[in-house]
Amino acid sequence: MARIAFIGLGNMGGPMAANLVKSGHEVLGFDLAASVLKAAEESGVKPASHVSQAVKDAEIVISMLPQGRHVLTAWTDILQSAAQGTLVIDCSTIDVESSRKAHEMAKAASCLSLDAPVSGGTGGASAGTLTFMAGGADEAFAKAKPILEAMGKKIVHCGEAGAGQAAKICNNMILGISMVGVCEAFVLAEKLGLSHQALFDVASTSSGQCWSINTYCPVPGPVPTSPANNSYKPGFAAALMLKDLRLSQEAALASGASTPLGAEAAQLFALFEKQGNGGRDFSAIIEMFREKT
Ligand code: NAD
Repeated sequence: MARIAFIGLGNMGGPMAANLVKSGHEVLGFDLAASVLKAAEESGVKPASHVSQAVKDAEIVISMLPQGRHVLTAWTDILQSAAQGTLVIDCSTIDVESSRKAHEMAKAASCLSLDAPVSGGTGGASAGTLTFMAGGADEAFAKAKPILEAMGKKIVHCGEAGAGQAAKICNNMILGISMVGVCEAFVLAEKLGLSHQALFDVASTSSGQCWSINTYCPVPGPVPTSPANNSYKPGFAAALMLKDLRLSQEAALASGASTPLGAEAAQLFALFEKQGNGGRDFSAIIEMFREKT
């Protein structure tokens, strides 16, 4: 069993660290928010008063933080205290550029590094069923895999440094675009007098099928477990979808990729958030299209 430092114990990091404890690992945690650290202590995480206290003597360090700038700040502190050869894993969703910079910082400190963002949300974090998309050297991935398996059910090595972040934002750009498309189709069906169930029965079994309709249908009824049946309680909050779409657009700009539908989806979710919907499930954006028509 490993000695693991966990930095950032919020909505995702808290339950992920708890699952590491359940698997028998010794977990030392640090978070800037005292209330969050206290909640983690109740699940068996040993609280540290500073990053360096958590990281000292740890074989593996995991960060789960809001954005790239938080990760770069935390990794600066982590790498000052980590012994050479320590594996540092970032599970946050951040921009590819910051992720690659963090890898370079780790290399300069003679540490192993992996970017390993997740999908599966807070439900997957609690249940230990997250999907990890990893980027980094083979040696880092091999060492990380058994640790990540305590928190997730699918662990994919996507390539070199930053490849996990790239996979995450490409996937979520598809999701943002496909949800907008599915919502538009249901609003059009309503105008044409076609029932939700009839559109679902056809599209979910023919060429319109996708996760946004088959698993996460944005209208109540056809898929009883989708947030539409629960007043659009997230699920996956619209603010997080907007964050990921913005990351995809930053990456598109930096790499010269043409992503016009990704750009449009980012604008639509920005408008939806501006209307006060950031905390609702992202599939609630269907209501905005109803208002527009
Ligand atoms: P959160 O805001 O609940 O938690 C982040 C925690 O980091 C906070 O408790 C904050 O106090 C702490 N923090 C910030 N800077 C720190 C520092 N320098 N040192 C120590 N602690 C610090 O966010 P979350 O929902 O847990 O999301 C974390 C990451 O996971 C984000 O990058 C997010 O995009 C990604 N993600 C979230 C979800 C989700 O459903 N919530 C799903 C997939 C991916």
